[in-house]
Amino acid sequence: MEKYKLAFYWASSCGGCEVAVLDIHENILKVIDIADIVFWPVAIDTKYKDVEAMKDNYIDVCFFNGAIRLSEQEHLAHLLRQKSKIMVAFGSCACYGSIPGLANFFYRHEIMNRAYLETPSTVNPQNILPQEVTKVKEGEITIPEFYDTVHTLGQTVEVDYFVPGCPPVPDQVMTLVEALDKKKLPPKGSVIAGDKTLCDTCERLREEKIVPEFKRIVEVIPDNEKCFLDQGIICCGPATRSGCGNRCINANQPCRGCFGPAPEIHDQGAKLLSAIASISAINEEERVEEFVNSIPDPAGYFYRFTLPYSMLKRKLIREEKK
Ligand code: SF4
Ligand code: SF4
Ligand code: SF4
Repeated sequence: MEKYKLAFYWASSCGGCEVAVLDIHENILKVIDIADIVFWPVAIDTKYKDVEAMKDNYIDVCFFNGAIRLSEQEHLAHLLRQKSKIMVAFGSCACYGSIPGLANFFYRHEIMNRAYLETPSTVNPQNILPQEVTKVKEGEITIPEFYDTVHTLGQTVEVDYFVPGCPPVPDQVMTLVEALDKKKLPPKGSVIAGDKTLCDTCERLREEKIVPEFKRIVEVIPDNEKCFLDQGIICCGPATRSGCGNRCINANQPCRGCFGPAPEIHDQGAKLLSAIASISAINEEERVEEFVNSIPDPAGYFYRFTLPYSMLKRKLIREEKK
């Protein structure tokens, strides 16, 4: 049997998704049985020019993790799409923007100023900021453009499969490996995860929820059998897709929503906001602010993994002042 040709690439990512591929432990031998890796910058010595030299559709499956923040990442997304039969958005950064996408609450100049001028550990008396082109005596040094807005992979190129999770779990990787091995791939556009909400798969005891305020998980020792929301602890289960094996819930931690929006939900944050509002015990207008203030950083909390994918997309779309 001719082996599959696989490619892996990381764009704006933390590297966790690269490690997640190896979480399948000895099953990696099964991958090696059926596939050769032809491009994986983090693990093998392959160059962009090697990809450029490949004929179109040479790669069978490209696992692309990370969001699109830089011009280099956008270029590689297009190049790998052109060279791959199947493009997989691997991990919630590629699927929904995830943690790098939280930068969409700020503008590029705010991020640059914070990183290179304002942080207490920075010493930069000449206020030097990164430039795309720098002239040196040997010639010009160029670096990629840092875009004002983070995008998902699906907003950049056509994606065939979505594997959410921060990072995805081994079962999802093996689902894809088995499907390739048996040549039985799911329909294009499929999300390789559960088809319910996390709450639908959660066995915690639930009562009628009426919550006067929320507490942070660090302020309480939660009951490990009761629903977190019933205990006044925000849990993203009502708006989140199942399929992780309820990892956080089983560790007595509320869900943070890393599997992204549940089926039929586009905007995970809006759904969660609606779920939280529906269990509020507050009827008096003057206490609403108090209730909202008991949720630290609500925008970051509700859109932690999905801001670029959401209806909001970013804080405000406008021309950036140079
Ligand atoms: S999805 Fe999570 S683990 Fe994967 S690259 Fe993004 S932040 Fe890291
Ligand atoms: S809100 Fe969280 S703890 Fe409660 S049922 Fe849903 S997933 Fe379980
Ligand atoms: S419980 Fe929620 S945050 Fe934890 S792994 Fe599952 S989807 Fe992600």
